[in-house]
Amino acid sequence: LDLKNADLKKLADLGQGNGGSVEKVEHLPTGTIMAKKIVLIDAKSSVRKQILRELQIMHECHSEYIISCYGSFLAEPNICICMEFMDKGSFDGIYRKIGAIPIEVVCLVAHSVLEGLTYLYDVHRIIHRDIKPSNILLNSEGSIKLCDFGVSGELINSIANTFVGTSVYMSPERIQGAEYSIKSDIWSLGITLIELATGRFPFCDTLEDDDDLSDLDEDQESKFDNDRYNKTPTHRDSTFNFNKKQGRRLSKNINLQEDSLSSMSIIELMHQIVREPAPRLGPQFEEEAEEFVDACLVKDPDERHSPKTLLEYRWMDDARDSTFDLKAWTSTF
Ligand code: ADP
Ligand code: MG
Repeated sequence: LDLKNADLKKLADLGQGNGGSVEKVEHLPTGTIMAKKIVLIDAKSSVRKQILRELQIMHECHSEYIISCYGSFLAEPNICICMEFMDKGSFDGIYRKIGAIPIEVVCLVAHSVLEGLTYLYDVHRIIHRDIKPSNILLNSEGSIKLCDFGVSGELINSIANTFVGTSVYMSPERIQGAEYSIKSDIWSLGITLIELATGRFPFCDTLEDDDDLSDLDEDQESKFDNDRYNKTPTHRDSTFNFNKKQGRRLSKNINLQEDSLSSMSIIELMHQIVREPAPRLGPQFEEEAEEFVDACLVKDPDERHSPKTLLEYRWMDDARDSTFDLKAWTSTF
């Protein structure tokens, strides 16, 4: 399919993230409805071409657990990626609309994400790198699929917003500067599952507790951040180099009022993730679910399970044996 902007009619805005925005569009020549992701990139033309080559891998991803891709093209200064449109949107939007997600559904989400991660890694040697509720999509057929996986290293490097890649779903080892591994995705999955099952981001208390900064102006605040935190060993993409505006942007990732989040509380949060015991699902849920989430949130990545071994957990047997009618459930909201 030879995609170009002239053939794509915008139907709606679907949302905005750190790296760009997403629109619902119609491909006029074929009548296909698509989701078009627009990413503003800062790169020379040779690098842009390299990015397009890397994005080709997305065409070769054929799995019921992965969003399919129609094609990508350059529309200076942006790169546009056209993908399968998922009419029920992402799970962050769903829980914001209906509240906590039923645990039977969360179980199916966990299973689909593990299958998706296993496919990406076994077949394409891709690590997702950005597991979070907004990258897990649902359609009214009852399919759950992953999107926005890290196919292109060059794209990640070139996104104009340098803040990309930093997220509150980041594992303790990533915060401390380790490279991504498939185990980092599992941590992010654990946080995501708690958020969906409880209808609330697990570290909310840390993030809301930022009163002591309200008197500082932005300059003072960033100096304060630098003094206090730049001594921490950090990753080369300077994970801890936040400012307030970036903090606000990040706050869109999670269910919080923009103003209740400062850069300070995000840095506090990152320290907490490294320092404190991992969050847990809570005893109000079945034992199989709790056991599974605990296994995702083992702090030491060497002790944490991989997607393959997690698929052997009891809770994943429940997913495979599930009689829950996901398709019927999607018609309730
Ligand atoms: P983020 O994932 O950080 O929210 P994105 O720019 O990746 O930011 O996506 C913005 C929003 O667009 C997402 O929250 C999601 O709800 C929506 N979206 C992305 N891809 C699709 C798709 N293929 N179908 C439907 N909605 C989508
Ligand atoms: Mg996304």
